[in-house]
Amino acid sequence: MREFETDVIVVGGGAAGLAAAITAAENGAEVTILEKANTTGGCANMAMGLLGVETKLQKERLIGITREQAYEKFMDYTHWRSDAKLVKKYIDQSAGTIEWLQDMGVEFALPSKYFPGSEATWHIVQPKSGKPGLRAAATMIKAMTERAEELGVKIMLETPVKGLIKEDGEIIGAAAKDKEGDLEIFGGAVIITTGGFGDSPEFIEKYTPYEWGKDLYSYRIPGLTGDGIQMAWDAGAGKDYMDMELVFFAPNTGGYAPIELPFRQPNVFVNLDGQRFYNEAVVENPVFSVNAISRQKNRVAFSIVDDKIMKKYEENGFDLINVVTSSMDMNDFKQEMEEHLKNGSDVFYVADSLEELAEKTGINKDGLIAGIAQYNDMCQTGDADFNKELKYMTPLDGSKFYALKFAPSAYGSLGGIRINDMTEVVDDSLNTIPGLYAAGTDANSVCNPDYVFVLPGNTLGFAVNSGRMAGKNAVTYIKEALAE
Ligand SMILES: Cc1cc2nc3c(=O)[nH]c(=O)nc-3n(C[C@H](O)[C@H](O)[C@H](O)COP(=O)(O)OP(=O)(O)OC[C@H]3O[C@@H](n4cnc5c(N)ncnc54)[C@H](O)[C@@H]3O)c2cc1C
Repeated sequence: MREFETDVIVVGGGAAGLAAAITAAENGAEVTILEKANTTGGCANMAMGLLGVETKLQKERLIGITREQAYEKFMDYTHWRSDAKLVKKYIDQSAGTIEWLQDMGVEFALPSKYFPGSEATWHIVQPKSGKPGLRAAATMIKAMTERAEELGVKIMLETPVKGLIKEDGEIIGAAAKDKEGDLEIFGGAVIITTGGFGDSPEFIEKYTPYEWGKDLYSYRIPGLTGDGIQMAWDAGAGKDYMDMELVFFAPNTGGYAPIELPFRQPNVFVNLDGQRFYNEAVVENPVFSVNAISRQKNRVAFSIVDDKIMKKYEENGFDLINVVTSSMDMNDFKQEMEEHLKNGSDVFYVADSLEELAEKTGINKDGLIAGIAQYNDMCQTGDADFNKELKYMTPLDGSKFYALKFAPSAYGSLGGIRINDMTEVVDDSLNTIPGLYAAGTDANSVCNPDYVFVLPGNTLGFAVNSGRMAGKNAVTYIKEALAE
């Protein structure tokens, strides 16, 4: 068995792990990252940007949201289910974190809203070339990895950690495996940042209301299999809130595909009974929509438009856009529609009548015909069912009907390891486990019960900020232990 020593051991080199490692190294510690994959970044390589509040970039653009307002919004949205002290620290630190990243050479595009009703907290990373978009944050990961290396952080790739080493109640190391075999690494503190359980159908089925592939079609970033959560629990950590970071997509289309464009609009959404089930005007907030869809039979919904609405979108643009869809238009949609029609599709349907649409989609025919007739009447009289604004009520009375199937999806998971506002791992009785810290998705119980979409950039924001806190707290812990 090979044995190594270091000051701080970081398990997982994604957004939270890199932030923790850099901070610990900046505070004078010798740091080793043990990373399962053959590269750093994990899920963060897929992301676009992170939350910042009261940043210089916001002030320059006259974006006036204050820390107090963001905090209040966060806590209102989560109904104070999240750790109020931890959230306060996270938001207060977030502007400094953006500058800290800028100092490493990370550039940001304008701070953005995700959708009109959200705040412009999303600091989308500006890639070295091209427009900021999906995967822009990979540029940030590259800069963070370089900064870590510059500070002497040892990054051991393809070295999955298998468990923690505990002695007299304290965590003193981690057991891992690399190409040459088993190894043990000992240190003053261990920080767990393994990115959650988004790639573990077993965890998802056991700890969330969903079953992957049956009623959930979430991103599965390879290797995010709940390892850190399990090893923390095995070492005595308490369990905290666990769920998926839910959004909704047409199953197996990759997420925000152009085929979704005219359907991610405030038209008619029905369930398998052909009945509307919510005010479709809230479609802009994916969390509201997925929560409503999740309550329907088989957790599916169909968004329906007719040829008249399609023509309106072609001529006047969409009713609602968000940052991700703003760069696409009806030409992108048409191109994908042709592919679906040519190759056959189990999510996109076209029909000449509602009867035919019901047959193709499996929606109850009588329910659909009655439901749409009722909706068309309400387009004159007002939405007695859900108070949707009349400006979004267009009757479905064209000569062609289009439907897209939507189902729950997710960016990944949320929560698992119980931590306190010092990012220390605690047991079910809230006693700390000395030497053990956790950050990022593994410990994200602040987005509880939902991803706080009104303050976008929230999970990457929590990962980097909680990582920074854990790095600093771990070094303080080691220094205090040495002083004793
Ligand atoms: C398509 C997509 C877009 C997104 N966009 C955004 C966005 O714009 N804004 C936002 O706020 N959030 C976004 N997210 C979510 C965001 O990426 C995550 O919240 C963030 O990356 C979490 O950071 P983390 O460090 O906790 O996990 P990760 O960044 O996933 O890092 C975890 C690391 O741990 C490693 N690991 C796992 N197990 C082990 C083990 N046993 N031993 C050693 N290493 C291990 C993994 O390989 C990985 O490198 C997006 C997610 C997806 C999928």
